[in-house]
Amino acid sequence: MSDSDCIFCKIVAGEIPCAKLYEDDSALAFLDIGPVAEGHALLIPKTHYVTLDEMPADAAADLLRSLPAVGGAVAEALGCEGFNVLQNNGAVAQQLVGHVHFHIIPRSVGDEFHFNWPAGAYEPGRMDEIAEAVRSRLA
Ligand code: AMP
Ligand code: ZN
Repeated sequence: MSDSDCIFCKIVAGEIPCAKLYEDDSALAFLDIGPVAEGHALLIPKTHYVTLDEMPADAAADLLRSLPAVGGAVAEALGCEGFNVLQNNGAVAQQLVGHVHFHIIPRSVGDEFHFNWPAGAYEPGRMDEIAEAVRSRLA
């Protein structure tokens, strides 16, 4: 299934070019055109899903099967010792392209890619409340 208005579906269909890194029956990896670091890559399902939680478990498993190898190859090719995997769901989470994608971002010492990671703390009891709210939806 593809979406005629989706830029990543057009890449899957070969209607828009990409710098392809990897392809199998379910997944395609290519370089991001707006890299936050050289080698910044995207791994996408060939089927159109907007957000990760829309994906059936088997489709997600098929997509992620190649992530370790693609991530490792990207980092190695760029001479990096590490990489981040980022995956945005929804506009509020900075998702701009509405087709599931995993960012693979090679990291070097002193590079310019920084997170704002405002680690907080829970009020007493709040952690248990949240954990129960999530568990009840997974039961
Ligand atoms: P996100 O904010 O998680 O939706 O990220 C979307 C990413 O897609 C951005 O990093 C863009 O640079 C990238 N992108 C958009 N169009 C293309 C394209 N035609 N080829 C490669 N990457 C693209
Ligand atoms: Zn799509």
